[in-house]
Parts: sequence; structure tokens; C-alpha cells
Amino acid sequence: MIQLIRKAAVIGSGVMGSGIAAHLANAGIPVLLLDRVLEGEKNRSSLSEKAIRELSGQKPAPLALKDYAALIKAGNLEDDADKLADADWIIEVVVERLDVKKDILALVDVHRKTGSIVSSNTSGISIEAMTEGRSEDFKKHFLGTHFFNPPRYLKLLELIPTPCTNPDVTDFMKSVGENILGKGVVIAKDTPNFIANRIGTYGLLKTMHVMEEMNLSFGEADSVTGPLIGRPKSATFRTLDVVGIDTFIHVAENVYEQADGEEKVVFTVPKLLVQMQKNGWIGAKAGQGFFKKEGQTILELNAQTMEYGPRKKLKADSVERAKQQKGSAKWKTLLYAKDEAGTFLWRVLAPTLLYSAALTGKIADDIVAIDRAMKWGFGWKEGPFEIWDQIGRNESIARMEAEGLKVPAWVKEMKDSFYKYDCYYDPLTKSYKPVPQDKKVIYLSKGTAVIKENSGARLHDIGDGAALLEFTSPNNAIGLDIIQMINLSIEEVEKNYQALVIGNQGKNFCVGANLALILMAAQDEDLWEIEATVKQFQQAMMNIKYSPKPVVAAPFGMTLGGGAEVCLPAAHIQAAHETYIGLVEAGVGLIPGGGGNKELYIRCLNQMPGEDLQAAANKAFETIALAHVSTSAAEARKRGFLYRSDGISLNGDHVLYEAKKAALHLADTGYRAPIRKKIPVTGETGYATMLMGARSMHTAGFISDHDFEIAQKLAWVIAGGRVPFGTEVEEEYLLELERAAFLQLAALPKTQQRMQHMLLKGKPLRN
Ligand code: NAD
Repeated sequence: MIQLIRKAAVIGSGVMGSGIAAHLANAGIPVLLLDRVLEGEKNRSSLSEKAIRELSGQKPAPLALKDYAALIKAGNLEDDADKLADADWIIEVVVERLDVKKDILALVDVHRKTGSIVSSNTSGISIEAMTEGRSEDFKKHFLGTHFFNPPRYLKLLELIPTPCTNPDVTDFMKSVGENILGKGVVIAKDTPNFIANRIGTYGLLKTMHVMEEMNLSFGEADSVTGPLIGRPKSATFRTLDVVGIDTFIHVAENVYEQADGEEKVVFTVPKLLVQMQKNGWIGAKAGQGFFKKEGQTILELNAQTMEYGPRKKLKADSVERAKQQKGSAKWKTLLYAKDEAGTFLWRVLAPTLLYSAALTGKIADDIVAIDRAMKWGFGWKEGPFEIWDQIGRNESIARMEAEGLKVPAWVKEMKDSFYKYDCYYDPLTKSYKPVPQDKKVIYLSKGTAVIKENSGARLHDIGDGAALLEFTSPNNAIGLDIIQMINLSIEEVEKNYQALVIGNQGKNFCVGANLALILMAAQDEDLWEIEATVKQFQQAMMNIKYSPKPVVAAPFGMTLGGGAEVCLPAAHIQAAHETYIGLVEAGVGLIPGGGGNKELYIRCLNQMPGEDLQAAANKAFETIALAHVSTSAAEARKRGFLYRSDGISLNGDHVLYEAKKAALHLADTGYRAPIRKKIPVTGETGYATMLMGARSMHTAGFISDHDFEIAQKLAWVIAGGRVPFGTEVEEEYLLELERAAFLQLAALPKTQQRMQHMLLKGKPLRN
């Protein structure tokens, strides 16, 4: 068996094949992308070539960096099959037909090298059936690797071994999935549609049946099956429009063919879906499905008239009450309410919970795998058994039985909750077992001792001599409490720890400073207060930079404004692959006020060939003036936010663990704080050069007067003010320039309008 994926081959360059190839490229793995030869086409690799070309234009972007497309080579199955011998992993991603897949795998068996791994991305065809006629070595190294669409962004990877798959191969692929590709891996059994699609499809079909009986519209169903119950914004039917009704029918039929009894009834494709497919109304790719956009308005399909009309919402008392609640109380309000919303949700969810329980042991070994598959594959906040625990075992079972629903015997035997502490109930042994944990995940909510805490942040002891500073304020916005804790943390670490990590497990790393406070002070003309705050923020960032013990920042998700400024002075950045970092202050009429202008300029300068001052200044200026936000950590590196030596964690769940490792490594290998030195700046001539582009954009009317004013202030700060080109200046001097520019901008009415607009509407105002 191979020990490393040095090269991979993907066969099939359609939606999933090209997306998987792109994600392998994101992980640095060179890929050969093969497809069939189109009849009559001169270019024999046209399909895969086109697929690679189109990757760069797709949204959301399958590639973390457009340059990564160079790692994917196009070819065709007739001329390039012999190249499969170079691949350590060959993934079949062709059309969902057993006969076609078997033919492709026979060809793979001829050309592959012994010990290479072969897998299929089928959505639900039997993995074992695909191995019929294949060699022994093939069978040992073959399994299902079911990615979800889009492969870069959806966390779930279902692995489906057959009885012939060597267990070492499954273990190895689990590690590849988690550590190299950053996925959440779940082991599934070789049953129709595996785990997530089996339960997800059931829930969806059940929703359609109940809606029909209760005469509810698609908009009404979506209004209560989205964020209200911890599901994605696109809820049920907008999600289905994105997946495609044709694809969905295919998946449903797959179970239907192998089901019997009540399951067969549920999996019977509703006539409406068949009609929609006939009409070509198969969802987003056809421009219409359950919903259709007309101008800015979204209309919904009326299942009776087959016409589109205004989108409706289900209004109910229980929904209003639930919006104010959390956890168990919220679930109970929703599911036990007697109004229309409550009745609908109970009638959809109760059978889905029972179906999940009935399939435990059949589609997966345990309830943990089922819960994780639904969370990682369908974006549910909680899996079915986690939900069930919240609605209460006894009450729910009593009602289910009173309504004639069949509760599996093991659930009744269980007597307690599905999860208890860090254990889950295992029906097979009738006992609680520890929930399997990924060793590379640090859970801040449990197991770490809190050293210090205030209203905005918490300092944890994460073991082995490392401390971690977690932001806890709403949206992790930076205020004086966080600034204070940064300083306290550095002092504490200097005395009692080896290294400090700054990171958290919120929705985003940090979306910036507390704008409301700045706006209030600005409106009260309390500039002295703003100046004091900015000064403290700048000083805290300098403390990070010159801390005698290494400080490692661990950004992920949105890392904006002040969030980015916290990362830039760190000794090392360990960023999650999905990090969207940017100094976006211009959007609210400001420039960075925590030393971000200086730090980005220094990072650009250190990475600029020949230490070209002007090129570095231009790069930092453009990034900040245009409020660029990276679309990945790799792009952040290209923009200068990250050094080549900074780390990228493909698996976002591993970022704290890897940041801790990096911090301790620095501490163990003789870390010294950087030496304070002067910074060469571009001065007056650099200022003029930076503004050249902005001036022509202003003259041409592409940017407003206010945009130009912000650009001037920004260029002044980056250039280091009125000094000759190449002058070396103190960092404190640059911070003074930054402070002055920040204050001048904050006092302007147009900046205050921008801040107010952002706070009220959540998007920038162009004024
Ligand atoms: P697709 O239609 O976009 O692509 C299918 C590919 O198969 C095309 O590149 C086509 O050229 C190739 N192909 C068709 N006939 C062939 C033949 N005779 N020989 C060789 N190649 C042939 O489909 P897709 O959505 O990418 O699905 C591919 C696989 O992934 C299927 O097994 C599907 O069930 C599975 N899958 C799809 C999704 C999804 O959301 N689309 C999700 C998970 C798994």
C-alpha cells in the first residue's frame, strides 16, 4: 500500500470531478484529469481542458488560488490511460451508472500500479458491485470516497469500505481526508445513498408529503425549516433548487428500488417533481424550480396551479416565541406547539428521528457517525440524535407512540439520553461509549483551565506550557476589554508560560473593532476618547510584536479590520485554509488604526524582491484602499498578509492545535523578539506615486471625493509623511501619523454616515 499521495488521477471532469480535482490542487497534490473523447472533436481532451479552464470563473471558487489550476493536467481515457500508473490515488467520478463505472474501473485495473488506491465518488451505487471481475489487489485497495458538492467547502467525506477493502487503506484514507484535504470523515456502510443522502432525502420527501396534506406552500415550509431550526438559510426547497431536481430524483429512486414497506411509500418520487422535471424546471441551473427570480423578487411555485406567485411565510405564535429561545427550550416550543408551524415541524421531524434510529447499525456503526454526517454534509447545526436529546426522550416517545409511530426497541430500552457527558449510547452493547475525538481538535469549551477572563476575552491554559487568548465579545468585535486582555495575556505568558496563541472557535476569527463605540465618540465630538483608544490598540499590537515569548495568531473565516491587525504583528500566523482576511476600514470611511498600515507595508517590503520600497508601498496601499479581502489563506499569502513561513491548516478544526504546535516549536528553538529597527519609507515621492492611480480613478468618476480623501490619508501614512524617499523612520512615528489620519477621518460627517450605514444595514455605503 502507498504511504503518501504524491499524485492523483480523477476520471470524469463534470461538476464533481472538476471540483475534486480543484480541491486536491488546493492541498498541493498534482492531478491528472481524464474524461472521454467526444466524437467528431479534433481536440481529444476537450472535455477536461474545458473543465480546467472554467474552474477559475466559478463561484464559489473551487480553487483557493487561480494559479493552482496549473497543478491539474488534462487528458483523455483513450490516449492517457497508461499515465494512471503514476497515480497513488485514482478517483472515479463519471456519470451515475453502474455499467459505465464498471467499464472505467476495468480500464483502471489494467493500468494502475500495484498498491495504488482506487475509489468511486458514487452518490449511492453499491461499492461492492463495482468490484465484480476486478483483481485481488484492486479489491483490497478500493473503497467509496463520497465528497459533497462543492468539494472545497462542504466538510463531509463519507468513506465506504467493502468487505474486501484492506482496513489499513480505510485508515490511511481517513487520515488523508482529515489531515490533507481538511474534511470531516465518517465511515459509512455500503447501503443505498450511504448516510447523509439517505436521511436527508427521507426528511425532504417527508416534508413534501406533510406539506401537501397540510396545504402549505414551499415558501411557508422554507420559512420554518432554515435557520429557525439550525439549518442553512436556503432551508429545504431553495437548497433543492441548488442541488437540482433531476439529481434529487435520481438519488430518491436509488433508495426506492431497494426499499419496501413504508420506506418505499416515502421514497416514491412525488408527481409534482416528475412534472417539474418534464417542464425543465429543475432548479437554479434552469433558472427556475420551486422558486424563480423576477428582477429582485423571488417568487414561489404554486403546486396546484403550477404558476409562480409571491413568496409566503408561515406566521405562528410558536415561531415568534422560539426566536427568543435557545437549545432545548426552543426545540420544545417548536415541536410541541399545537399551531400550524408546530404541527408541521413535528410531523416532519419525528419520523426523521425515528428513521435515523431505525437505520443505526445499518448505514453506520453508531449515532455519532449519523449526527456528524448530517451536520457536515447538510449543514445542520445539530444531528438527529442531538435534537432528540433536546426535545426530551420520555415526552417525545409517548407522543410518537400515541400517534401510532413505531419507536425502535433500542431507543425504548435506552432509558436515558443519547449522549451523556462525552459519551454516546451504543445499542449493540447497550452501554455508553466515549465519542471518538479527533486528536487535533482543541475544545475551548471543555478541558481547558481559564487563567483570566473579562467581558470580552478569556485566557486559557491549553497545556504543555501554552496559553490561548480567546475573544468572547459579540461577533468577537474588539473593544477596550479585549485590548486589556491582550496586554494581560502577554504579561502572564511572559511570567508563567512558553508561548501564546490568539484564536477562538466562534463563527469568525474577528470582524473588526467595535464600530458603535467609535461612532458614538465621533458623534459626541469626543476625539480625545477616540485618540486614547486608538493609542491603546496600537500599543497592544506593539506588545504582541515585541513579546519576549512567541505569539501565534490563528485566524479563520472572516478576519477583518482590527481582526487582521491582531494577526499582522504576530511572530507566526497559522491560518485556516478558509481565511478571509482584509483591512476593510475604508468601507467605513477610516483607515486601519491598530498599526495595520505599517505592518502590512513591512510584510510587503520583507517579501518584495530587492526590497523595492515603492512596490511594497503600492501593494499595501492598493490592498487597504480597495479594502481587498482574501478568498483563501493562499490568496492572503499572495497579497502579503502572510509570509511563506506562516502556516495554512487545510482542516479548519485543526488550526488551534497546529497554532499551538507552531508556538511551542518557536519557544523550543530559541525564539527571540524582533529587534526594534527603523523602517525605510517612500516619503513624498512615494506618496505622489501611490496617489497617481487613485487620482485618475477619481477624475474618471470611479471613486467618490470621500474615497479620494481616504486614499490621500492612507498614502500619507504608508509613505511616512513629508520625508525624502528612503528615509528610515521610527515605528512610533508611523503610528502617530496613523493616529492623526484616523482621527481626522473619524471627525468627517461622511465617515460617520458610512459607519452608521454599516451598523444599521451591515454593508458599506458609497458616499
Ligand atoms: P456530471 O454529469 O457533471 O459529470 C459526469 C462526467 O462523466 C462527465 O465528465 C462525463 O463526460 C463523464 N462521462 C459520462 N459518460 C461517460 C462514459 N461513458 N465514460 C467516461 N466518462 C463518462 O456529473 P457529476 O455531478 O459530476 O457526478 C459524477 C459522480 O459524482 C456521479 O457518480 C454522482 O452520483 C456523484 N456525485 C454527484 C454529486 C453532485 O452534487 N453533483 C455529489 C456527490 C456525488
